[in-house]
Amino acid sequence: KLVKAHNGGNGMGNNCKGKNGTDLFLKVPLGTLVKDALTGAVLYDFMAEGDTWQICKGGKGGKGNSRFKTATHQAPFVCTPGEEGEACEIELELKLIADIGLVGMPNAGKSTLISKLARRAVKIAPYPFTTLEPNIGILKCDDGSKKLIADIPGIIDQASQDKGLGLAFLKHIERTSVLVYVVELAPYQERDPFEEFLMLRRELAAYDPTLLDKPFLVALNKIDQEEAQPLADAFIRKYPFSQSELFIISAQESVGLEPLLDAMHQLTENEKIS
Ligand code: GDP
Ligand code: MG
Repeated sequence: KLVKAHNGGNGMGNNCKGKNGTDLFLKVPLGTLVKDALTGAVLYDFMAEGDTWQICKGGKGGKGNSRFKTATHQAPFVCTPGEEGEACEIELELKLIADIGLVGMPNAGKSTLISKLARRAVKIAPYPFTTLEPNIGILKCDDGSKKLIADIPGIIDQASQDKGLGLAFLKHIERTSVLVYVVELAPYQERDPFEEFLMLRRELAAYDPTLLDKPFLVALNKIDQEEAQPLADAFIRKYPFSQSELFIISAQESVGLEPLLDAMHQLTENEKIS
């Protein structure tokens, strides 16, 4: 897409200066990266609301003849031409900024979870700038602070090789400070929940190993289903990390959500301090 600011006006008689060209502003959502289209270098990163950044400068206007007037030379035929404005080719890339990112397979219950947690929210809105349309919910915490939680469309096996939603999805979680793996306790499916958890971690690592360094929680969802408890027990037995990160919930029935919410809150606060 070519966007162009208007040219300034020409100068006119009676010492009139030409009009300045008006600045052209492009509005972009928070989290937009400005990249050099050729080199891919990041030129600017919109991190705060209200940030502005100048991509191209307009040219300077030329000087009209009245600027060259002297005491003895009242009507000189001299002037300088105006300069061309700058031009450049950039790419705008949107990354999601959220405190908490939900990571899980399709159908794990991420959307349900966010809608239940964000019941206390001031707003839950679709994020309209990507085709993937992750949702962002605002969690209102007991201490009055607000946290953004992003429900990102499901990861699939080999997302890191850009199958399915693939990389477009993974890009979004780079910027969340805390991850919550949402794993379905699905007794009627072949998938083992623990294997699924490992798969999610493998996918993240294949894209960017540092994603595994982010603090995380694990929510085992759908405990309300019959036969879900043995799957949860098996998961707990195999889980190699701190059990305090594990939460067994039913998003749909609002079971176990308070402790999960508290842990999310605590973890994001810790991130701010460190
Ligand atoms: P997403 O793809 O991860 O966003 O999953 P959704 O939130 O859309 O949920 C997928 C399906 O699982 C929907 O039919 C939900 O109603 C159902 N679901 C979500 N949470 C639970 C739960 O805690 N228990 C049960 N039984 N079903 C759930
Ligand atoms: Mg969903």
